[in-house]
Amino acid sequence: MFNSLISSIKRWHSKPKADRGAEPKPPSDNGQKPKPAKKSPRAPKTSRVVVPRSDHSLSRRDVSRAALTVMKRLQEAGFEAFIVGGGVRDLLLGGHPKDFDVATDATPEQAKQLFRGARIVGRRFRILHARIGREVIEVTTFRGHHSDGEAHEAQQSEHGMLLRDNVYGDLESDAVRRDFTVNALYYTTNGFEIHDYTGGIRDIEQRQIRMIGDPETRYKEDPVRMLRAVRFAAKLDFEIEPTTAAPLKELAPLLRNIAPARLFDEVLKLLMSGNGERTFDLLREHELWPHLFPDNARELETPEALALTRQALRNTDDRIRNDQRVTPAFLYAALLWPAVNSEQKFLTEKGIPPVPALAQAAQKITSNQLIHTAIPKRFSMPMREIWEMQSRLPRRGGERAFRLMEHPKFRAAYDFLLLREDSGEIPAGLGQWWTDFQQADEQQRQQMVRDVPRNGARGSKSRGRRNRGGRNRNSSKRPNGGADHPSN
Ligand code: ATP
Ligand code: MG
Repeated sequence: MFNSLISSIKRWHSKPKADRGAEPKPPSDNGQKPKPAKKSPRAPKTSRVVVPRSDHSLSRRDVSRAALTVMKRLQEAGFEAFIVGGGVRDLLLGGHPKDFDVATDATPEQAKQLFRGARIVGRRFRILHARIGREVIEVTTFRGHHSDGEAHEAQQSEHGMLLRDNVYGDLESDAVRRDFTVNALYYTTNGFEIHDYTGGIRDIEQRQIRMIGDPETRYKEDPVRMLRAVRFAAKLDFEIEPTTAAPLKELAPLLRNIAPARLFDEVLKLLMSGNGERTFDLLREHELWPHLFPDNARELETPEALALTRQALRNTDDRIRNDQRVTPAFLYAALLWPAVNSEQKFLTEKGIPPVPALAQAAQKITSNQLIHTAIPKRFSMPMREIWEMQSRLPRRGGERAFRLMEHPKFRAAYDFLLLREDSGEIPAGLGQWWTDFQQADEQQRQQMVRDVPRNGARGSKSRGRRNRGGRNRNSSKRPNGGADHPSN
């Protein structure tokens, strides 16, 4: 496919512009079109390549019906409309795009008229959410160059960060405002061509993540682009092109200027999209990890903390691959646990009893994390329950084991216990007891509880004693196949 793409690029480069395929039809003159911004002297150089239908593998059949409907409606109203970003990139790579984004020369207000119930969202970037059936398609208006904009349409902070970017332009100016070349490919059903202004097709072919424009400036405009570089490299198994990778370490501290809520969303995309382990390695390599999870990063010198972090990410990846549910509560519980555990130890050495020490440690480490990435309450509450249950799982005497198993977070807490054992943080044993208990019938369960050593009934305090309880250790089969995440 790419050979034909590349040869066609050469051909198209050498043709005079007038010959290059069908230009998108000029929109009908409805008197409302935004004026394309004048070309700024600072605009990066581009060369336009249009790959005709015959020379690429992308087909309208691969595009969601909703996205096709949005494009069609915009085109019928006289506007240009293209699929851009992950939709084009992933299809060219033979993958399945997560969603389709549409770029157009219609302003958000103009586009809104065309879709019933559509909403304009965002302040920094005003975007239209067009709902077609159950799908929501993001429709963005072509961005322009900043020097063309009024102050109230584009704003930059003293660090060079873009606070607002609502200056509109044309397809070419839109392309250079995007982050990476592979994300700036445009596909239109009006002629079925792919438009490439930034060398995205070459970079897809060479499997490289390359920033459009000067990497340092573009990271300063929006430091989240540093995380996006890593995310796409991990997801696509691409290299980060050297000049794009070079500023990462130095600029990593800029992540502190990003709102914690936005970083939380980014963390989910980084770690809960099926490539979490590889993403973790790249984030560490480029020294971005300590700016997302400083308390975890500090603990990683301990082999158990590294093993637990890695195993949690690997389990998440496996679960996503198997279409099983994953929750940020479990992953955050794992990422913060090594620090919570150290803090708890520190407090117990100072004489605070283990249970309040755990509560205090949990409070401290959670508050610390919130400075960096938000954790919505619906995840932080179960995260803390998972931790809290770690001190209850050893106490199984009387009715306790039966009651614990009824707890809504039992499954998560049990999975977490297995993770801790697998990482070597605590010796194996208790996890197997719980595995057996879940598989046993009522009578066997009663017997198992009677056999729990007395310290197990009262709740053990020392690590060694905690793991003495338990029979049937020869059975290693775990319900539902092993050290998994919670089902809730
Ligand atoms: P995926 O949806 O698979 O995660 P994507 O490339 O579609 O990947 P989105 O976050 O959906 O990523 O964004 C859509 C497009 O918008 C991107 O491909 C890119 O062109 C542009 N974009 C998104 N975020 C930024 C940013 N921070 N800076 C510049 N351009 C961006
Ligand atoms: Mg997308």
